[in-house]
Amino acid sequence: MYGLADCNNFFVSCERVFQPALNGRPVIILSNNDGCVIARSNEAKRLGIKMGHPFFQLDTLIKRHNIAVFSSNYALYSDMSRRVQQTLRSICPATEVYSIDESFLNLQGVKDEELDAFGHYVSAKVLKDTGIPISVGISHTKTLAKIASKLCKQYPKLRGSCYMHRPQDIEKVLRKFPVEDVWGIGRRFSAMLKSRNISTAYDFAQLPLDFVRSKMHLGGMKTWYELHGHPCIEFETQIPDKQQIMVSRSFSKELDTVEDVKEQVALFISMAAEKLRRQRSVCQAMHVFLLTNRFRHEQEQHYDNRLVTLPAPSDSTVELADIAVRTAVQLFRQGTFYKKAGVALTQISPKESVQTVLFDEIDREKHDKLMTALDKINEKQGQRAVVVATAGFDGIRMNRNHLSQNYTTDWNDILEIHC
Ligand SMILES: [Mg+2]
Repeated sequence: MYGLADCNNFFVSCERVFQPALNGRPVIILSNNDGCVIARSNEAKRLGIKMGHPFFQLDTLIKRHNIAVFSSNYALYSDMSRRVQQTLRSICPATEVYSIDESFLNLQGVKDEELDAFGHYVSAKVLKDTGIPISVGISHTKTLAKIASKLCKQYPKLRGSCYMHRPQDIEKVLRKFPVEDVWGIGRRFSAMLKSRNISTAYDFAQLPLDFVRSKMHLGGMKTWYELHGHPCIEFETQIPDKQQIMVSRSFSKELDTVEDVKEQVALFISMAAEKLRRQRSVCQAMHVFLLTNRFRHEQEQHYDNRLVTLPAPSDSTVELADIAVRTAVQLFRQGTFYKKAGVALTQISPKESVQTVLFDEIDREKHDKLMTALDKINEKQGQRAVVVATAGFDGIRMNRNHLSQNYTTDWNDILEIHC
């Protein structure tokens, strides 16, 4: 049996843990730069606010319904996600982190007659340990477990867990479940299926397998088998390392001085290098790009990027920042207003498999020690306590006018209770 634990309205739930007064009130979370809505509480969904809704169009609605608005606070969300995963790992035989708010649970060893109670236990335990409400779905395959977890969200009387195993129950659910919401179907296939009058998961499961094979290939066949209760999507406990690490942002105000651009690029490369070290990898190439605001038609439009190959594989912020900043200076054009910049680290490989370069100009051992110290200090003192000088101390030039505190990752932001 497979389980799926999905956090309910995850970003909103994270904010509510530290501000319980938000319970029952409509809440929305905005994308980087406060551009559009990326998460909604159930109350906000009921008001008709859609994912991706532009924030500037919501003024009236926000005032009329007293909607609480937050800029996305990823430091808080990823730390809360880590806490949820920690609890899941402590009670399940094995887990597979699928995304920031979803984990698959391997339930081997849990007896069939105990699965229902176990699901409810997992749900209650995560709520108690972290304050985050979750929906646990349990069924024969990962695809069915996902459907079962969605049911929990629709029916509060399931109390956070749904064990869906009897064939007649599964059929009843699939007959009502929209085909586009089935894991693995996606937007690409749902249009084709709908044009053939296939609108529910049940309709899809009734299709001849030959048809599925010819139109949707292996991925579609796997989904078909999974809906019939035959597991085809394996359990992965090892998350594959990222093959590309990209950090890019739009700025709140356009940047037109080389100093500002240098500072932002140094900041992005520092963030990317930190991620690289966290997965114990090195990179041998990087991409740096700058771009103007494509909506400002009156301005000269400019997009430029450069791929730089490094003399030797590296994970040192000092070395990478030096190269990235020099590249950005070469790309920078005087009199141009830049709206966005980014860096991407590529040709990534595990650090231990690296071949050393004979005439290396860099003392790798020294850099390694420095980076270990840097990561330790930043982990303890909060992000960016120590930075490379080029990155400055101002942070990213982003609009984050509705940001909550970093309650769990920054000593200065710890929750205060006034009695
Ligand atoms: Mg979720």
